[in-house]
Amino acid sequence: MKLFNTLTRKKEKFIPIQEGKVKMYVCGPTVYNYFHIGNARPFLVFDVLRRYLEYKGYDITYVQNFTDVDDKIINKAKEEEKKPGEISEKYIEEYFKDADALGIKRADVHPKVTENIEEIIGFIKKLIEKGFAYEVNGDVYYNTTKFNDYGKLSKQSVDELESGARVEVNTTKINPTDFALWKKQKPGEPAWDSPWGEGRPGWHIECSVMSTKYLGETIDIHAGGQDLIFPHHENEIAQSEAFSDKPFAKYWIHNGYITIDNEKMSKSKGNFFTVRDILKEFNPEVLRFFLLSAHYRNPINFSRELMDQSKNALERLYNTKGNLEYLIDNAEKIEMNGEERKAYTHFTSYKDKFIEAMEDDINTADAIAAIFELVKEINTNISSDSSKGFMEMTYNIFNELTSVLGIVSKQKEVLDEEIEKLIEERQQARKDKNYSLADKIRDDLKEKGIVLEDTPQGVKWKRI
Ligand SMILES: [Zn+2]
Repeated sequence: MKLFNTLTRKKEKFIPIQEGKVKMYVCGPTVYNYFHIGNARPFLVFDVLRRYLEYKGYDITYVQNFTDVDDKIINKAKEEEKKPGEISEKYIEEYFKDADALGIKRADVHPKVTENIEEIIGFIKKLIEKGFAYEVNGDVYYNTTKFNDYGKLSKQSVDELESGARVEVNTTKINPTDFALWKKQKPGEPAWDSPWGEGRPGWHIECSVMSTKYLGETIDIHAGGQDLIFPHHENEIAQSEAFSDKPFAKYWIHNGYITIDNEKMSKSKGNFFTVRDILKEFNPEVLRFFLLSAHYRNPINFSRELMDQSKNALERLYNTKGNLEYLIDNAEKIEMNGEERKAYTHFTSYKDKFIEAMEDDINTADAIAAIFELVKEINTNISSDSSKGFMEMTYNIFNELTSVLGIVSKQKEVLDEEIEKLIEERQQARKDKNYSLADKIRDDLKEKGIVLEDTPQGVKWKRI
């Protein structure tokens, strides 16, 4: 498999440090609000990278942190007259609700900053001892001029960075590009005891510390949104490599931006969408499908029109799955014949196409196209005349590919039972000439996104 490595700006062959194992760290959310669609993209595309690596048989250890101490959390707590801890706990819970709905698998560890303060202090102490950090009046800064490789990820020299750095008033930093590892407590802010007095960690240090603690000094993949390349990931490299004298991460993977109706998303423009808002209108899988319909490194534009298109496309996949299930259940022939065997071999070429796309830097756009080519073939080649063996094998390919992307994944069995029961009740109501009840059941089902069709084979249903 090839992955585009931001560190080298090249697509590189993926070779894990330890055979068969992948250690992966993804920067998680700052928990002060529901997460928005821009945050959703990295969580989702790296979930697919993880699923694909698992599909290939790798044993993955996946870590995604929660930033639960931050100015934004402190400000929100002041606004709502709550403790910062109450805000972060609430939005961690809300994060899981939305992430679970989107089918984002939970990480093996979701560490929090507040649970790693001791390790953070130890890490900073070592950076000071090694001459990479300095303390001024209760603040600790990283000295960027001491780390020779500073700028290697964002491809900027310290000189370039210095001339571009914002001039800060009253700063005690030695160089403009130096950044805070530890911040002295301001009145009313949460703080912990440290060798430099009461204070709290800067933002960047948490990921260096938690990645090292849970995955080791050198990991395979470090990932996040492209806006994190500088300064966050640049600073993580500076901290970790100064600490361990080893490379921090082998592959740095970043996803592209999201625009809303071709404009940059911003609160002031009123085009700021939380996932929670979108899920009020759309099935979570529609959003998942939409975000995977572009290559993760390309920008993606969110619009109602494109969401509607995604909904229709996903519906086609559900219909194919539903039809196959119906035909398998009602098949008269069991054994595959020669022609079906040939057709099946041809179907497997779409699996090859799918894998080829995913091997090429997780090209989900092309992978989805391969699934639709397969669907077209299924729809023309499979009918009530097909054998059960042929259809089951085809069904397995379809499921194998869609589950790598985490789509068309609804727990059908549970839902089916409920729907079948309601359909039976509706049939009974019609027999009893209780048409108002029959209509009500039809409407209730419609609200659940289920449309009924009366066919010569009986009542069939499909999802909308
Ligand atoms: Zn991070």
